[in-house]
Amino acid sequence: MKLLSNKTALITGASRGIGLAMAKKFAENGANIAFTYMSSDEKAIALESELTLLGVKVKAYKSNAASYAAAVELIDNVVKEFGSIDVLINNAGITRDNLLLRMSEEQWDEVMENNLKSVFNLTKSACKTFLKQKSGSIINLTSIVGMKGQAGQTNYAASKAGIIGFTKSVADELGSRSIRCNAIAPGFISTDMTDALPVETKELYFKQIPMARFGSPEEVANVALFLASDLSTYVSGQVISVCGALNR
Ligand code: NAP
Repeated sequence: MKLLSNKTALITGASRGIGLAMAKKFAENGANIAFTYMSSDEKAIALESELTLLGVKVKAYKSNAASYAAAVELIDNVVKEFGSIDVLINNAGITRDNLLLRMSEEQWDEVMENNLKSVFNLTKSACKTFLKQKSGSIINLTSIVGMKGQAGQTNYAASKAGIIGFTKSVADELGSRSIRCNAIAPGFISTDMTDALPVETKELYFKQIPMARFGSPEEVANVALFLASDLSTYVSGQVISVCGALNR
């Protein structure tokens, strides 16, 4: 019996990076996978085919996590197609970095809508399904930056800090129904998001990380696997850092 046998996981933003690693890890561990993306059609179709070969049910949905209406429609479609949702991973996220003095209202709004409102959209829409089932594991991707702040990322840090408050509140509200809600706070992980950083900035970060390297998406996926599985049935309302000791 695999860790996620007979479970269905919905992962937002799994065409690349951490979401992609979680989709693979979960499928390898027996989960059926519904996943979303925004614009990477080819990558999403390729992932759907690759994971189907593992003998689980897989479906890609082009769905904007920042839209409430799209989230409601998505949850409806996933429940119709898969019958249930056992694990919701709110992973989709973006950066629009700028110093506060130069940050536009649009950069602020875009990050808040894609990173924070998206978590509300999906979690609220999936709530009824979890309540009916009297079970569910919600995993939200926050960031070390949401705890310690980062120059040039006031919008991103605020959105990720908001996710922590949301996560703890949902755990409080839904705990009595056996619905768990936790957050994962990655430090610097090698994905397209961090590849975009200038070399000098990366070198500066390496010096600040006690483990002196960026993490891999798989290292984050391993923690998500724990939180999604029945190994963590009494773990809720927590923020687990995956950051090479950056946040001590
Ligand atoms: P990434 O490589 O940039 O991938 C982002 C994924 O999210 C892509 O699949 C993208 O789809 C999807 N996406 C973006 N906006 C979306 C939307 N509105 N609706 C649906 N899908 C959307 O990012 P990552 O580095 O893997 O990061 C994943 C999560 O971890 C994010 O929440 C990020 O903030 C968090 N995180 C990352 C790091 C890090 O160092 N990488 C550190 C801390 C936290 P398309 O491919 O179609 O664009």
